[in-house]
Amino acid sequence: MVISGKELSARLKAEMAEQVKTFPAKYGRVPHLVVILVGDNPASVSYVTGKAKASEAVGIRNTTIRKPESITEAELLDIITALNLDDEVDGILVQLPLPKHIDENKVIEAIDKSKDVDGFHPLNVAALWQKQPCTLPCTPKGIIKMLKAAGVEIAGKRAVVIGRSNIVGLPVSKLLLDENATVTIAHSRTRNLGEVTRQAEILVVAIGRPKFVTADMVADGAVVIDVGVNRDPETGKLCGDVDFAAIEPKASVITPVPGGVGPMTICCLMENTIECFLKRRK
Ligand code: NAP
Repeated sequence: MVISGKELSARLKAEMAEQVKTFPAKYGRVPHLVVILVGDNPASVSYVTGKAKASEAVGIRNTTIRKPESITEAELLDIITALNLDDEVDGILVQLPLPKHIDENKVIEAIDKSKDVDGFHPLNVAALWQKQPCTLPCTPKGIIKMLKAAGVEIAGKRAVVIGRSNIVGLPVSKLLLDENATVTIAHSRTRNLGEVTRQAEILVVAIGRPKFVTADMVADGAVVIDVGVNRDPETGKLCGDVDFAAIEPKASVITPVPGGVGPMTICCLMENTIECFLKRRK
């Protein structure tokens, strides 16, 4: 079974649009998401455009602030401070990566925790690891939603996550653990990776290498979630970290690239913006 993140996210966005329609009567306005884009990295421009389109579909007000690569760290921090203080702004997202002369951690920490729709602020991260209420990072949140929508039972399963980044690998491992999976985290220093991945009943791959996971690394009947977004060096087309064509026949459930985890990430960003809006109203 191929889980279409495109279809699931379209359904969830339609539900959110119905909810947001009721907000002007209840709260006087709709949620407002501000996205800051520094420079003109083509991938970042395309992600920011996707976020604006999704906002429009859901009925969320979206403002994209574009700044040149030459902006200083202090100037960027000033913009964030002003947005933190602006009561008409519910969510602030700084598109990463930032230019080398800007400290990403400093920028993330500057965002008010209650407007941190990406869930990257250290206080949100700490809350996640302490099982406290928090804004969940979008990609891991989307992955759990996809597993549940596909009817995958997570509790008690052996899950292997390849990748230990702050935005995908680590938080998705924690969310799987919270769903009572037995979780192994693999990375570039893992020995005999195939031996580890063949144990997986649920395999989440977030590496950033085209078609890195081959069929011999996956057990029959495994659930395979492919987070990677890469260019296939042969065709130039988008592809994941998993060799989809070879693994699809042996996996019980698999996500495609494109049209899998990516759309769910944006969908969860919309959900987080609504959640931040509602929490601030309380
Ligand atoms: P990242 O920060 O570069 O982390 C990559 C991880 O992969 C690291 O933990 C690294 O291990 C591990 N790794 C690298 N080479 C490996 C190898 N040969 N064997 C085993 N592990 C290896 O990347 P990321 O930000 O997590 O993103 C991963 C991929 O997901 C990228 O393609 C990115 O574009 C994509 N992504 C997609 C979405 C979406 O919405 N679809 C969202 C975010 C990211 P070490 O820690 O040991 O270096």
